[in-house]
Amino acid sequence: MNYMEVEDQYSMGIIPKREVVIVRGHGARVWDDDGREYIDCVGGHGTANVGHCHPAIIDAITKQAQQLTICPEVFHNNVRAELLKILADISPEGLNQIFLCNSGTESIEAALKFARAATGRQEIIATMRGFHGRTFGALSATWNPKYRKPFEPLLSGFSHVKYNDIEAMEGAISEQTAAVILEIVQGEGGVRPGNGDYFQQVQNSCRERGALLIIDEVQTGFGRTGKMFACDHYDLQPDILCVAKAMAGGLPMGATLCTTAAAAVPVMSHGSTFGGNPVLCAASLATIRVIQEEMLAERAMEMGAYFRERLESIRTPGVREIRGMGFLIGVELKGKVTPFLRGLMARGVMALPAGNTVLRFLPPLVISKEEIDIVVGHVEAILNEVKG
Ligand SMILES: *Cc1c(COP(=O)(O)O)cnc(C)c1O
Repeated sequence: MNYMEVEDQYSMGIIPKREVVIVRGHGARVWDDDGREYIDCVGGHGTANVGHCHPAIIDAITKQAQQLTICPEVFHNNVRAELLKILADISPEGLNQIFLCNSGTESIEAALKFARAATGRQEIIATMRGFHGRTFGALSATWNPKYRKPFEPLLSGFSHVKYNDIEAMEGAISEQTAAVILEIVQGEGGVRPGNGDYFQQVQNSCRERGALLIIDEVQTGFGRTGKMFACDHYDLQPDILCVAKAMAGGLPMGATLCTTAAAAVPVMSHGSTFGGNPVLCAASLATIRVIQEEMLAERAMEMGAYFRERLESIRTPGVREIRGMGFLIGVELKGKVTPFLRGLMARGVMALPAGNTVLRFLPPLVISKEEIDIVVGHVEAILNEVKG
């Protein structure tokens, strides 16, 4: 079968595909169907924090698949209990009421619903360039018109203020505000970290006015930025924390972690058929243990800084700015990013865009120093070669 042709024929074409068929992965590398090797700085869009095909994850999934693969939330379950306990333990203080689901957008959707139900208020304040997902609630909090326009009208009660601007935020929070929703580093929006002071002040303003603070760590969670959660860099105590992407070793899982007050939602008012599936719970438990045992957050901090320094040492007029935190790194170019992505792939490096002009690196946190050096070498070569 010609896989590319068949996929192009039968998939909707909403997501343009690169000219490659990926069939295998290990650690920070993937291989195509011709056996060609690539260093993977796409990292499954930031889901592959523990690396591809980590033996501990394979083992956990395999064992659980032989034990029990289906267990709806109307029953108690052993692995789910273990996961809930560890999630409450590793997350910021007070987040001990947890809803399990299957993706990032669902974790946001739940957070928005819980915020309205718990506060009895309707308005949600999000930020310009923020990205929170593609279902109607999450999309209403997402800023980019490219994602919103074709599907309007979206939900009412949502507004967007300038990110990392405390005056804009304080001017917007009122007695009608159910919640403020924020990323610690805007990922899709171009890899833009906010300031610690800003987050502290937003948290204070929310408390003063009875609004909830929702932190979206779908991309930044599970070691990506150099701490288990990016919130931990600033000792934030959000009312709701949304996680997904890397949570279950690359398998589809999300969670909405709430304080008792934020979880004041009527019984049976929300739910998910697959939420808390035992195979995914086992995968997530194994993932969290690997992150802890292999000290992957610390690794992301140290090696992420090394990666950034190496990128910063590249002398070229084509780069406007390099931003990031841990292993969430963006290189803002003066021109369009597409030809650079193509050139990197031809050289055996997979990377991502973040908007039209930002080259984004989201490698598995297990990427080695040697692999980083190879990536930086190719980035340097391509920056000198391609005129964006
Ligand atoms: C990817 C992402 C989402 C959406 O997650 P999906 O699993 O694709 O629905 C939400 N918020 C942020 C910050 C993300 O990076």
